[in-house]
Amino acid sequence: MSSFEAPKGTYDLIPPDSDTFNAVREALSAPLRRAGYGYIETPAFEHTGLFSRGVGESTDIVTKEMYAFTTKGGTDLALRPEGTASVLRAALQANLHRLGNLPVKLWYSGSYYRYERPQAGRYRQFSQVGAEAIGAEDPVLDAELIILAVDAYRSLGLRNFRLLLNSLGDQECRPAYRAALQDFLRGLDLDEDTRRRVDINPLRVLDDKREAVQKQLVGAPMMRDHLCEACKSYHEQVRELLTAAGADFEDDPKLVRGLDYYTRTTFEFVHDGLGSQSAVGGGGRYDGLSEMIGGPSLPSVGWALGVDRTVLALKAEGVELTPPARPDVFAVPLGDEARRVLFGAVTELRRAGVRADFAFGGKGLKNAMKSANRSGARFALVAGERDLAEGAVQLKDLGSGDQGPVALDALTTTIKEKLQ
Ligand code: ATP
Ligand code: MG
Repeated sequence: MSSFEAPKGTYDLIPPDSDTFNAVREALSAPLRRAGYGYIETPAFEHTGLFSRGVGESTDIVTKEMYAFTTKGGTDLALRPEGTASVLRAALQANLHRLGNLPVKLWYSGSYYRYERPQAGRYRQFSQVGAEAIGAEDPVLDAELIILAVDAYRSLGLRNFRLLLNSLGDQECRPAYRAALQDFLRGLDLDEDTRRRVDINPLRVLDDKREAVQKQLVGAPMMRDHLCEACKSYHEQVRELLTAAGADFEDDPKLVRGLDYYTRTTFEFVHDGLGSQSAVGGGGRYDGLSEMIGGPSLPSVGWALGVDRTVLALKAEGVELTPPARPDVFAVPLGDEARRVLFGAVTELRRAGVRADFAFGGKGLKNAMKSANRSGARFALVAGERDLAEGAVQLKDLGSGDQGPVALDALTTTIKEKLQ
């Protein structure tokens, strides 16, 4: 114990859990890399205004959850609460939309920060893998991203996740729907906060988790009954493409992302083994976002998958990921001369691609062999003065217990042969 602990809502990633996290990040991004998405990394903090505009003044993320601060130089910055605004900002800044083919396809992986009430599956620093396809309006692109996420979860061995799908309409049909929904909501018995939400962001009310609110929403107008022909046809194409790819989904007419620039396709992945923090990932089309942050019109679609919750979902299903490779060889030197020689041998083995570790700290034979066994290595490499005098080391198979001398100058080739 030191005098400090990790701040509330955060946790350290330590072995072997850290290996699971890396394996999950790897698996979530592998389908993207195969599909032509390029890796992008942006700063952990941005100008606060990017998020208040890009995420939205009326969202909980901006009003309640943002880590915003003023620097000594007087600049307003915020730790990034999500990835989309930053990635779009970076793509615009680098002119990616003018230099190459559209859509610009990007993926990212990193930590995000929200001042939330910490609980299982909800942290103040959490990890996401995300993808954005910028500058194209094509139902195939929406379907591509959703299928890549489905395939990513499946590749991990995850089974009990569900894909919820909805369309939020566009500038054409949403305003009339929004007004109809507001009319309906204003007739309900709602608290002051929610009534304010009805004014600024009525779609979000559909997403309210409270029973007392949900009960009153029976009979509320649904976007899907108000879609214009173009949105209806677009959504139908996405649905058909998903069905053809074997990506099962459930239509969820109440699924919203609730911001004006989110348009058409919206989706969420939920896992039933996670209690109330059931969303493992989500995304959608955001055709108006670029203009909101001062860019040209660039219809785009993206998603973000939560790494922490995906790890919890794997645990809930009892899925074990392949543990990291153990050392092939563990060197046990007996005496100073052996330390020098075996360390040289270990270095040579590593350079030849063999996983090798070493008994550090001048341990005696018994403790060093304990370390070798604990490491899970296949072979121990033991050498004392007598072995070295004969230009040999002892190679012990830690599984069978078989042991025999190997000439020092043939060590790397011998071990590589045995490992084949
Ligand atoms: P929720 O409804 O659970 O708050 P959200 O809608 O805020 O989720 P998004 O902004 O869509 O989440 O982020 C995408 C994913 O990132 C979520 O599906 C979830 O897996 C993960 N995520 C979001 N917030 C947190 C958090 N505080 N801790 C851990 N994971 C999170
Ligand atoms: Mg949230």
